[in-house]
Amino acid sequence: MKAAVLYGLNQQVVVEDIEMEGPKAGEIVVKVAATGVCHSCYHAVTGMLSIPFPAVLGDEGAGIVEEVGAGVTLVKPGDHVILSWVPSCGHCSYCTQGHGNLCMTSRRGGRGNLLDGTTRYKKNGVPIHHFGMVASFAEYSVIPQECAIPIDNDIPLDKAALIGCSVTTGVGAAVNTAQVRPGSSVVLFGAGGIGLNVVQGAVIAGAEKIIAVDLMDSKLEMARQFGATHTINASDIDPIPAIQALTDGLGADYAFEAIGTRTTYEQTVQAIRNRGKAIWVGAPPLEPLSLDAGIVFWGEKTIMGSNYGSARPRYDMPRLLGLYRAGILKLDELITRTYQLEEVNEAFSDMLNGDVARGLIRF
Ligand SMILES: [Zn+2]
Ligand SMILES: [Zn+2]
Repeated sequence: MKAAVLYGLNQQVVVEDIEMEGPKAGEIVVKVAATGVCHSCYHAVTGMLSIPFPAVLGDEGAGIVEEVGAGVTLVKPGDHVILSWVPSCGHCSYCTQGHGNLCMTSRRGGRGNLLDGTTRYKKNGVPIHHFGMVASFAEYSVIPQECAIPIDNDIPLDKAALIGCSVTTGVGAAVNTAQVRPGSSVVLFGAGGIGLNVVQGAVIAGAEKIIAVDLMDSKLEMARQFGATHTINASDIDPIPAIQALTDGLGADYAFEAIGTRTTYEQTVQAIRNRGKAIWVGAPPLEPLSLDAGIVFWGEKTIMGSNYGSARPRYDMPRLLGLYRAGILKLDELITRTYQLEEVNEAFSDMLNGDVARGLIRF
């Protein structure tokens, strides 16, 4: 089976044939149809997300169930599914409270492994890990059945793939985590694949003013296409006074961080008004933050983490596809370039250069 494998930090991804074991009890094999190229995978390359090596990358995919292991009841061969990187079990403390994104089960096997602590991929006898549980940069993905979210067959799988990470994360941050209110003002730091979906989420929630902040004009232009009403290029000006000028001197109701740098994490707290919410969506920076506790305390500001858009995958993913079908959620427009699996390194560099809203690998 062909897969894109990362062997160590700051290396090129190697596309090669690896061996795949069949599914164990409770697991399934999905023939991957398409997989988005997500910044979280690239964080594994740079070490911002620490993972065991070697690993098959890919955290945003969709495909068709090929084979099911013993005891599988949630899907059957032929089902079209989105790959969710959290196997929400439905039974743990968080799942039963409606927070399937925080499911305890997903941690059981340890990072880079399936739930039983082992992998289904290897090469020359050496185990290869599964990035983000779903390891979708491969022709086939072996996953726990809980990671497969069944969808209607009429939805194109390349569009559905995007729901697996960036759309759920970005739209969910606005709609689920922050619960953006109609008529409110929103600031977004970082108009990449996640950030554009935060903009979409803010539009869907009825925000009046959506201010996108980035360092690249190409990304700011994309943000406008997805519904940003104002843009600020932070390489030209300090974004905080510019945001205040656009919000009656008060700051925004909500500020989302979708990059993962210390500076922008801190800026979200400065960008919001009293009683406002700062929502951290980008992968957490490794350095400690320096925050003025006083402006949080006196201004009654709220800081929120948003992990996978606070999603309940089995509920939210089909719901997002419903919004796509209704013409409310943009998916086609997100895919600016498609690649073969062999072009994965090129896809990463296009992403870093800000050339694409979303790159998509088709099989
Ligand atoms: Zn991702
Ligand atoms: Zn659970």
